Amino acid sequence: MADDIGLDNTARTACILCECNCGIQIKLDGRRFDRIRGDEQHPASKGYTCEKALRLDHYQNNRDRITAPLRRRADGTFEEVDWSTAIGEIAARLAKVRETYGGDKIFFYGGGGQGNHLGGMYGAALQAAVGAKYYSNAIAQEKTGEIWVDGKLYGGHTKGDFANSEVVVFVGKNPWQSHSFPRARPTLKQIASDPARSMIVLDPRRSETAAMADVHLQVRPGTDAWCLAALLAILLRDDLIDRDFIAAHTSGSAEVLAELREVPISEYAQRCGVPEDLIESAAHRIGSAASVTTYEDLGTQQGPHSTLVSYLNKLIWILTGNFGEPGTMFLHSSLIPLTGPPPPHGPQHAPNNLPAKAKTLLAGAFAATAAPVGKLVCALAGIRTTAAATNRMAKAVLDRSATRVAALAPVIGPGGSGDRTLVTGAPIIAGLVPCNSITEEILTDHPDRLRAMWIDATNPAHSLADSERWRRAMRALDLSVVVDVALTETGRLADFVLPASSQFEKWEASFFNFEFPHNVFQLRAPVLDPLPGTLSEPEIYARVIRALGVVDPKTIDTLSAAAHGGRNSFTVAFFAAIAADPAITMLAPYLLYETLGPTLPDGARPAAGLWAAAHLCALHNPQGVRRAGFTGPGFEPGEKLFEAILTRRSGLTFTVDEWTDVWNYVSRTDRRFTIAVPELLEKLGGIIDDPGVWTTEEFPLVLSAGERRSFTANTIIRDPAWRRRDAGGAMRISPTDAESYGLADGDSARLVTERGAADVLVEVSPMMQAGHISLPNGLGTHHRAADGTQVQTGVAPNELTSVDRRDWLAGTPWHKNVPARVEPARH
Ligand code: SF4
Repeated sequence: MADDIGLDNTARTACILCECNCGIQIKLDGRRFDRIRGDEQHPASKGYTCEKALRLDHYQNNRDRITAPLRRRADGTFEEVDWSTAIGEIAARLAKVRETYGGDKIFFYGGGGQGNHLGGMYGAALQAAVGAKYYSNAIAQEKTGEIWVDGKLYGGHTKGDFANSEVVVFVGKNPWQSHSFPRARPTLKQIASDPARSMIVLDPRRSETAAMADVHLQVRPGTDAWCLAALLAILLRDDLIDRDFIAAHTSGSAEVLAELREVPISEYAQRCGVPEDLIESAAHRIGSAASVTTYEDLGTQQGPHSTLVSYLNKLIWILTGNFGEPGTMFLHSSLIPLTGPPPPHGPQHAPNNLPAKAKTLLAGAFAATAAPVGKLVCALAGIRTTAAATNRMAKAVLDRSATRVAALAPVIGPGGSGDRTLVTGAPIIAGLVPCNSITEEILTDHPDRLRAMWIDATNPAHSLADSERWRRAMRALDLSVVVDVALTETGRLADFVLPASSQFEKWEASFFNFEFPHNVFQLRAPVLDPLPGTLSEPEIYARVIRALGVVDPKTIDTLSAAAHGGRNSFTVAFFAAIAADPAITMLAPYLLYETLGPTLPDGARPAAGLWAAAHLCALHNPQGVRRAGFTGPGFEPGEKLFEAILTRRSGLTFTVDEWTDVWNYVSRTDRRFTIAVPELLEKLGGIIDDPGVWTTEEFPLVLSAGERRSFTANTIIRDPAWRRRDAGGAMRISPTDAESYGLADGDSARLVTERGAADVLVEVSPMMQAGHISLPNGLGTHHRAADGTQVQTGVAPNELTSVDRRDWLAGTPWHKNVPARVEPARH
C-alpha cells in the first residue's frame, strides 16, 4: 500500500463504475470503506459523484473474491494451485499452442473494466511474447461503428462541450444514468432550467433525460436512422446549414447534400413514428443555435443501422458548422489511446512526424550521455571495442531508434486496423475483432480457428451476445485463462483462473481522458494492501513473460543498470535497446516494468509503462503539455509529466489546449473533414427500401437487453445487496402492453426470444412505449450468499441475445433490438 493514506485514514482514488471515473475520497475502517465522498481536488469531477460511488464497499469487500490460482481438473471441478505451478503450466501450454498452431491462434480479450486498464499495457507485451495477433474488448460491441465513421471523417475521437452548449442533442443516450461526461447530472439540470438553452433527445424510451428535454423524438425502436435522415433533410431544405463552414472545412459536400435532397421527409417521419412538425422544430432549434453538441451512445449503437446513425449524427454538427468553438464539438489530446488508430482515409491521412521529433530529442540526449550510453549499447550487443568506435556505434543505433519511438504508440495502447479475422474475414476496426465474431472464430473445424484465449478483467460469457454459445466456445479451446478478482461466469468455464488484486489494492489508472481544453489523467495508488494470494495484472503478465523466456536476461540487466543511473541515461539506453533489437519493441511495457519499474517510488512499478506514454504525449503535443506546466528542453517535459502522474493523487491536467488546436487533431494534411463516405451514402439511399421492422408474429415485442438504471453498472459488483432499488432487475413494460397481457407491477412473466427464455419480474413503466420492453444490464451474475450457497439474481440479458443480429459494417450487436414475446409465468 502506498504510504500516502491521510492521517484521518482517508485515501484519494476514483470511482470505477463508469467511464467518468469521478475522483473520490475513501475513509477506511480497517479494510472496510467506512465513508466515501467526492474529491474536490479531482480536476474533472471536482467533488461530484452520483449515488453509485457511495456503494463501492460492496465491490471491495464481498464473498466472491478468489485468493489462489484455480486449475480445472479432468472432471471439470477446480483445484487450487500455487502461483509458480499455475504460471509454469500456463506458459508451457501457451508455448505449445504457439508451436503447434501459431501464435495468431491465441486470442486476447479484455484488459479493462472501468478504470482497470494498466494491466492492458502489459497484456499487450504478453501478446507479443506469444505472437498473438487478434484481440478485442467491450468497445467492439459498442463503439467500433462510431470509430470507423470517425476514421473516415477526420481520424480522431470527438466529444462535445456540453457544459457550454446552447443546444445539446442526445441520440440513444441517457446521461442521467449512464453519465459519460463530468458532472453529468448538474449539467443536465442547468440546461433544463435555462430558457435560453435546449435539450433534444432521440430515444424510444421516455428516459430520465428525455423527460427533462425540450424536444423528445420518441422514435419507434430501431428507426433512429430514418428520424436523423429526415432531420438532416429539413436542415438542408430550410437552409439551416452553415455553407461557409462547409466550404472552408469539408470535402465531398456535394455528394452528401445531393443524397440528403432525396430524403422523403414526410415518409421518414412516418416510418420512425415521430410527428414531422416535431422533427422540424428540432431541426430549426439546431439550425438557429449559436452552439450545438451531440452525443450518441449504446441505445443507438447497439441497434439496427448503428454505423449509419453515427454518420448521420456527426453530419448534424458538421453541416451546421458546430466544431472548434466553445460550446461545440472538438477533437482532443490523449495520453494513451484505448483503441488503435481509426482507419486512415487514403492519401489525406496526415504523416506521422514522431520519428523526426524523437531524433532531435535523442541527439540532444546523446550529447549529454554519449559515453555511458555507448558502453551500455556495446554491453547490450556484447561487443568489446574502443571508446571512439563505441560512440560511433551508439550514435548510429540512436539514429535508428527514433523510428522506434513511433512504433511504441500501438504498444503502449492497443493498435492495428484494417485487418480481417482468419476464419470469417470479419473486419477489424481499431485493432478490435467484432465481439459477435469471436465464437465464430472458435466453433468451426476451420484449420485457422482460434485455439486459446486469455481473458483479463472482463466477463464475456455474461456480457457478450449468446451466453450459451460462449460456454460451448470456451470448452472447445485447448487453453483458456481468466484473470479476475472473482470466479465469474467466464472464469467458471476456464482452464485456469488467476486471482487479481482489486482495483483498490494496486496501482491503477483511469484512461478515458477525453476532456477539452483541459485533459485529465489519474494514476491511482493502492488504498489497501492486496488480499493475500492475489497479484496485480502487471505482475501476472510479467511472470508469464519471464516463464516464456523470450527476453535475453542481459537486456534486462543492462537496462536495470541504466535505470539505477538516472532517467536521462535510461531514456537513451531504452531507445538504444529497442533500436538494437527491434523485435523487442512490442515487449516495451514488460521491459519498463522489469527495469524502470523497481526504481519507482512507493512500489509504483506497474506505472512504469506510463513513462513511455508520458514521453509520447509530450512528443505528440508539445504545446499542450507545456501549457499544462510541463516545460523544459529535450525530454524534460515528458519526464516532468511522468513525475506529476506518479505523485498527484487526485489526478492532473496533462494537456491544456486552445480551441484553435482542435484542427491540429484532424488527421488530414489539408485539415478538412472528408464527409462523403460512399459506403454510408449508399446505405442512406437504401433505407428507403428497408421496412425497418424486426419483429415477427412469433416475437412481436422489441426487447432492449441491457438498460442502464440507477443501480446497475457493469458486473464487477456481484453482491445484489448493493442495489438500493430494483434489486431483482425487473422487466419494464408499457402500461398499454401490460394491460393487454394482463400484467401488473410485481407480477411474474415468461420472456422468450429466439435464443432463450427467462422468468422475469414485471414493472409497468410509463418510460416504455407500446411494443417496447427492457431488461437492466449487469444482472444474472452468481453471488456467494452468507450460508456459502450460490445465488443468481435477475436475468442475464445475453441468455436471450443472438450473435446473428449485428451491424452489417462494424459487427456491433443489436442488444437494444431483440425480437421477443411475453407469456404467462410458469407455475
Ligand atoms: S458511477 Fe460514474 S458518474 Fe457515478 S460516481 Fe462513479 S464514475 Fe462518477
